[in-house]
Amino acid sequence: MGVPTRADLAGIPDYIIPGRPPGAILLNSNESSLPPLPAVVEAVARAASQGNRYPQWFSEDLVARLAAEMEVPESWVAIGCGSVSLCQQLIQAYCAPGDEVLCAWRSFEAYPVFARVAGAQSRTVPLDPGHRHDLAAMADAVSPATRVVFVCNPNNPTGTAVGTRELRDFVERIPGDVLVVLDEAYREFVTDPDVPDGLLLARERENVAVLRTFSKAYGLAGIRVGYCVGSPAVVSAVNKVAVPFAVSGPAQAAATAALDHIAEVTERCLAVAAERERVRHRLLKAGLSVPASQANFLWLPLGGRSESFAEFCADRGALVRRFGDEGVRVTVGAREHNDVFLRAAEEYAATGWPT
Ligand code: PMP
Repeated sequence: MGVPTRADLAGIPDYIIPGRPPGAILLNSNESSLPPLPAVVEAVARAASQGNRYPQWFSEDLVARLAAEMEVPESWVAIGCGSVSLCQQLIQAYCAPGDEVLCAWRSFEAYPVFARVAGAQSRTVPLDPGHRHDLAAMADAVSPATRVVFVCNPNNPTGTAVGTRELRDFVERIPGDVLVVLDEAYREFVTDPDVPDGLLLARERENVAVLRTFSKAYGLAGIRVGYCVGSPAVVSAVNKVAVPFAVSGPAQAAATAALDHIAEVTERCLAVAAERERVRHRLLKAGLSVPASQANFLWLPLGGRSESFAEFCADRGALVRRFGDEGVRVTVGAREHNDVFLRAAEEYAATGWPT
């Protein structure tokens, strides 16, 4: 008999670790298909040569740089070991056992897990029939126990986004002592001008914080840097529960170097967005249902066919991410890799939807 863990640990679902068999085309983790820019790799190497020293505690240089870019005071920015770590820190800082975290479902699967790890409850509100956040239902679902509400915009895994008016109406309905977290991990891929920039809301309201990441648009998923923008009270709460030195020196240097090359980053994101539209139109033409996406991935609500579709694609070399019997999420990758996936999807549709 080993040492017993806390009683509720076994009931908390494990984070699903995507498969990476050698040689497979990886369209299952919303990563960038391109490696970091050469200048970023050089900055990482330079920082690694100082690896005997601890990194800056609060990533001060990166905070200063981001604050200048966003035109907010430095006290408004916290850095984390990926934005996933900031999700956890926010819940830890704001929720005690018995409190509630509210989010849409499906949305990013880490939110309910982190709620339970913190001893809080998670409450989920189904997406609307268009696979979008049902913000009116979410506002209705806020209870006296609710401390944190996540709005993932664009939403993972559906790619759908909410517009400016509906997000503003929603935020206005949320009590001032409930924290609204706008998770904008995929913000840089947004092309619809009606999708709001969460920073504008965070500037106006003390109870709104924004999460962003270098993992997707900047192609630094393996290097681990994300940031939180919010009022100084939110930022100091997030920093208080941080694991000391969790953001390594090479990670801080990589993010700063990536910001020096924002034009290339933007160009890459526009190319991904254009490719997203090409892939979506081919899928629609093949008869598949695919909601419009503002992210670097597409959602196929295949229901009970999700498993057979994912296996069909995997057998043809392209790995996609299946979410139970709800659907499949496919990352927009390199054009030739997307074509492998598209041929599989078209073959699947043409063979009469094998189950
Ligand atoms: N938020 C959302 C919505 C995500 O999809 C992800 C990554 N899958 C994250 C946060 C976390 O990303 P990272 O920790 O790499 O910044």
